[in-house]
Amino acid sequence: RFITLEGGEGVGKSTNLQFIQDLLAQKQIDVLLTREPGGTELAEKIRHLLLEKHREAITPQAELLLVFAARAQHVQQVILPALTQGKWVLSDRFTDATYAYQGGGRNMDNRLIGWLEETVQGELRPDLTLLLDAPVEIGLLRAQQRGKPDRFESEQLDFFERVRQAYLARARQNPQRYAIIDAAMPLAEVQTQISRAIDALVS
Ligand code: C5P
Repeated sequence: RFITLEGGEGVGKSTNLQFIQDLLAQKQIDVLLTREPGGTELAEKIRHLLLEKHREAITPQAELLLVFAARAQHVQQVILPALTQGKWVLSDRFTDATYAYQGGGRNMDNRLIGWLEETVQGELRPDLTLLLDAPVEIGLLRAQQRGKPDRFESEQLDFFERVRQAYLARARQNPQRYAIIDAAMPLAEVQTQISRAIDALVS
């Protein structure tokens, strides 16, 4: 089984990632935790290039291709081998983040993203995608309070609004694998909903 966790800034991805990991451990499920961009040595280097603050401005095309270069490596070296061994894989972001950030945020053509997705992943798609969704203002406020310093968070509000809407559009297009979680609710409620979605996958 392949589970991905998605969402914009400050929606509680890290906290809930830990929660999901614990939940699967309780169920004695052998799970590999990984993240994107990243997950292999090369892909983590690409992540560093993408998140680096002081470098020349990156073009949307270069960003898209780098994200997929990292993903190609991640899929072949980490995700597919783990799934083949019968492990579960839990990834902090995957291709839906590309539709959201590079597609919605940077206006890259969804058909191009779809073509890269086919090329890099073949048939591989998540079995379950948990989308932590909250109004942009709430998420950014939380992210600022945490003082998270990366270049993606210096974007304009409308960038994050486009990211959010692109995520919601992906969820509507793929309702069979998506669980939209209202991340503005109290944490206990968020985690109840996450548990429900995971339980449905286990049984
Ligand atoms: O998941 P995390 O918040 O650690 O991701 C780091 C940053 O990378 C985020 O701020 C996100 O905006 C950005 N990102 C991106 N395009 C992706 C994946 C992540 O711009 N495809």
